[in-house]
Amino acid sequence: MKVLKFGGTSVGSVSSIKTLLDILKEENKNGSKPVVVLSAMSGITNLLVAMAEGAAAGKEFTAELAELERRHFEVVKALLDIQNQNPAFTRLKIHFNQLEELLQGVLTLRELTAKTRDTILSFGERCSAMMIAKIAAQHFPEAIFVDASELIKTDSAFGNARVNMELTDRLIQGFYAENSDKLLVVTGFIAGNEAGQITTLGRGGSDYTAAIFGSALHAQEIQIWTDVNGMMTADPRMVKKAFSLEELTYTEAMELSYFGAKVIYPPTMIPAFLKKIPIVIKNTFEPEFAGTVIRHDCKASTLPIKGISSINNISILSLEGSGMVGKSGFSGRLFSLLAREQINIILITQSSSEHSITFAVQPTDVGKAQMLIEQEFELELLANKLEPLVVEKGQAILAIVGENMKQTPGVSGKLFHALGRNGINVRAIAQGSSEYNISVIISATDLAKALNAVHDSFFIELTKTLHAFCLGTGNIGKTLFKQLADNAGFLQKNNGIQVKIAGISNTRKMVFNSDGLSLDSWEDALAQSHHEADLKTFIHHMKEMNLPNCVFIDNTASPTPIGFYEEIFKSNISVVTCNKIGNSASYSQYKTFRDTARRHGVDFFYETNVGAGLPIIRTLKDLMSSGDRVQRIEAILSGTISYIFNYFKGDANFHDVVKEAQEKGYTEPDPRDDLSGKDFMRKMLILARDAGYEMEASDVQIDAILPKACLEAQTVEDFYAALKSEDAFFANLKDTAEKDKKVLRYIGKLENGKASITLQMVDENHPFYMLSGSDNVISFTTDRYKERPLVVKGPGAGAEVTAAGVFADLINVGAN
Ligand code: ADP
Ligand code: ASP
Ligand code: MG
Repeated sequence: MKVLKFGGTSVGSVSSIKTLLDILKEENKNGSKPVVVLSAMSGITNLLVAMAEGAAAGKEFTAELAELERRHFEVVKALLDIQNQNPAFTRLKIHFNQLEELLQGVLTLRELTAKTRDTILSFGERCSAMMIAKIAAQHFPEAIFVDASELIKTDSAFGNARVNMELTDRLIQGFYAENSDKLLVVTGFIAGNEAGQITTLGRGGSDYTAAIFGSALHAQEIQIWTDVNGMMTADPRMVKKAFSLEELTYTEAMELSYFGAKVIYPPTMIPAFLKKIPIVIKNTFEPEFAGTVIRHDCKASTLPIKGISSINNISILSLEGSGMVGKSGFSGRLFSLLAREQINIILITQSSSEHSITFAVQPTDVGKAQMLIEQEFELELLANKLEPLVVEKGQAILAIVGENMKQTPGVSGKLFHALGRNGINVRAIAQGSSEYNISVIISATDLAKALNAVHDSFFIELTKTLHAFCLGTGNIGKTLFKQLADNAGFLQKNNGIQVKIAGISNTRKMVFNSDGLSLDSWEDALAQSHHEADLKTFIHHMKEMNLPNCVFIDNTASPTPIGFYEEIFKSNISVVTCNKIGNSASYSQYKTFRDTARRHGVDFFYETNVGAGLPIIRTLKDLMSSGDRVQRIEAILSGTISYIFNYFKGDANFHDVVKEAQEKGYTEPDPRDDLSGKDFMRKMLILARDAGYEMEASDVQIDAILPKACLEAQTVEDFYAALKSEDAFFANLKDTAEKDKKVLRYIGKLENGKASITLQMVDENHPFYMLSGSDNVISFTTDRYKERPLVVKGPGAGAEVTAAGVFADLINVGAN
C-alpha cells in the first residue's frame, strides 16, 4: 500500500486535478489502492490567514471570501457531472457559511486566538479534500472523504501541534481496517486534540499527514506529489541551475528542509525514518520523471554536497559579556526560557571563549524574545556582566548539506572562498555536530548572490556563470563581443564557463540585463536604451545588481574609469583591462590596485597592457611566483615602430613609411604618440613594476627617435611637413645601418633596476634582427633562463589579438 500526497499546486486548478486523477488511475492499474492525502488548493491557506488576521485588525473579508468560493465552485462546475454538483455546492456552501460566521466573530471581537485560527485554516483542506473525494468517486466509486482531525490526535499547541503517535496509529489502523475496500481521500495538515477541537501540524504540514498515515499503515512508499522535479540542489526559484537529486538520506532531507527547502516539511522524515519507509518526491506536472527518493540505504554519491538551502529574512540576537564565561547554567537558562515561551530558535553559535552567544529567530519572535531576556537577566545587565542585547534584522541563513561532507576535507574552505570572493560577509557560522551541514548567517540582501555563487562552486560539472560589465564599444569591445558569441558553445563545453554580459556602456549610452544581453543584438539594445551614459551610475548599478562572479572589463584607453578601480575591487569585483593608464601612472596607484584586489580576493588581469594578446605579463608573473629572478628584459613592444623600421629600407623614405603605417591603421591618430616612445615607456614601466621594481615613469630613459622640430610641430600636418624636411637625418640612419649589414631597432631594456628605450643598430646575430610586420618580441634572462633567454614573440597589436587577450583574462577569472 502507498500513500500519495498532493500539494497545493497539484490540487490548485481544474487541469492539475485532472492530472491528479490520471495519476490515481495509473496507480489503480497496478491493483493497489492508495491512501490519498490532499492539501488546500494553492494560495487558499494564505488567503485564510490574511482574512483571519485582517478581521482581527478590523478589516472586511467579503472580497476574499468570494474569491475562495469562486476557486472551489469553478472546480465543481468543471469536474463534477451535473447531477453530482448540487450536493457538492451544498456542502461547500455550509463550510463557507461556518467560515464566515467565524470570521465575523473575529471581526467583532477584534481577537484571533490560536485555536480559532486553526479552525479557520482547516477549511482549506476540508473543502479541497471533500470536493476532490466527490470528483474521484466518479472514477473510483469506492472513494470516500476522510477528515483527519478525527484520526490524528495531538496536544493543544495550536498552530504547531504535537502528535500523540500511539493513539493516532491505533485510530488510523482501526479506521483503515473498517474501510479496507475504500479509497481514502484524507485532509492534510489538520488534526484534533482530545477535546475534539481542530489543531494544525504547522505550515506545510500535509506532508507530515502523509507520513503519519504511511507509518501507521506500514506503507511501502510515501509519495509527495508537488510542482518541481523532486528535491533539487537548491530552490529552483532562486538558483536557475539547480538540478534534481536522485536520492537522499533521511538526515540529508531533514537538514535541507529544516534550512528552508520547502518542498518537504521537516517532521515528515521522522515517522518514515523510524519505519524505513521510502519517501518519493514527484512532479505532478511531469509524472514520468523519477523524482527524488529519500531512503536509508542510499548508494554512495559523488557529489561533495547534496544541496544548499536558505531561510530568508531572519533576525539574529547576540548576547555578550563576562557574566557568561564559565557559567554552566547560563545557556541552559537562556534557551529553556525561550523554549518555555515557544520561541523557535533556528540556529545557535557560541564563541569558544564562551564570551558570546548568537542565535537566530523569526522576526515575529524578536520583540518577545528581547523582552524575556531583558527580564530574565536584569541583574546581570545592571551589573554590566552582560552587554545589552544586540538585535540584527534582515539576515538570512544559508546551509550546505550532505553526508559526504564528513569525509571530504576542504568543503568549508570552498564555501568560504565562494562567499569571500563575492564580498559576502559572514556574520556567524554553525556546523552541525553531525558534520552533515554547515550554516552561515549573511545579510539577506546578499542571499541570491550567495546561493548562486556557492552553487557554482560546488557543482562544478555545471557551467559557471561569469557576469561581465563592459566599458567601451570601440574596436576591441566590439571584437570581444564577437569572439564571445563565436565561442560560447566551446567555452561551456570545454571550460565549463558561461559569460553573461550584464552591462555595457560607451560614452553615450548604457544598458543592463542580469540575465545577459544578447551578443547578437547588443548594439540595438544599447542604442534603444533610455540610460544616458554615466560611469558613476554604471558602477553603482553594477554593485547594486549584486550578481555572483562579477567582472568589470575596461576596454577603453581613457583615464576616467581608472578612478573607479579601487572602489570596484573593494566591492569584490574583478577587473580585466587593456587600458594601460591605470598601471602606468604613479607607482603608489599601481600598488594600491594590486594590494586592494588581493585583499578582497579578486583578480586584476591586464595581459593586454603589454604586447596585446601575447602571454608576456603572465609569463613574467609565473616566473616571479615560482621563485625565479629577472636579470634582464629586452623587448620590442611597439608594433607601430616595428612596422615602420621593417619597411624603412632600400629606397623608402621615412616620411612615406610613417604615412603608410598611419593609413593602414597601425598608428595612433597622431603618430607621434607612438614615435615619441611614450606608449612603449608605459609598457616597460609595467613590466619593471611586475618584475618587482618600484619605478616611476620618469625613471625610464627614452631615446627619442624624432628630431625636436617634429616633436614640437603644432598639428599632425605640420608634423608630416617637419618629418619631410628631416628626410636626410633618417636616410643617414638607415644608410649607416645598412652599410654594416645592420637593421634599426627601437629596443627597451630593463637591467639592474634601470629601464631604458633606445634606438639601436643590430646585426644578424641579435635575436631581434629578424622581425616581421608589426611583431613584438621580448626576451627574459633570468636565474633559470640565463644560458639562453626565454623569448615570446608574435603579433603585438590589433583589435583581434587584443580582444583575444582580454577574452583569455576573462576566462582566467572564471577559473579561480
Ligand atoms: P506543495 O504545495 O506541493 O506542498 P510547496 O510549495 O510546499 O509545494 O513546495 C514546493 C516548492 O518548494 C517548489 O516550488 C520550490 O520552489 C520550493 N523549494 C525550495 N527549495 C527546494 C529544493 N531544494 N528543491 C525543490 N524545491 C524547493
Ligand atoms: N495548506 C497548508 C499550508 O499551506 C498545508 C500544506 O500545504 O502542506 O501550509
Ligand atoms: Mg508543501
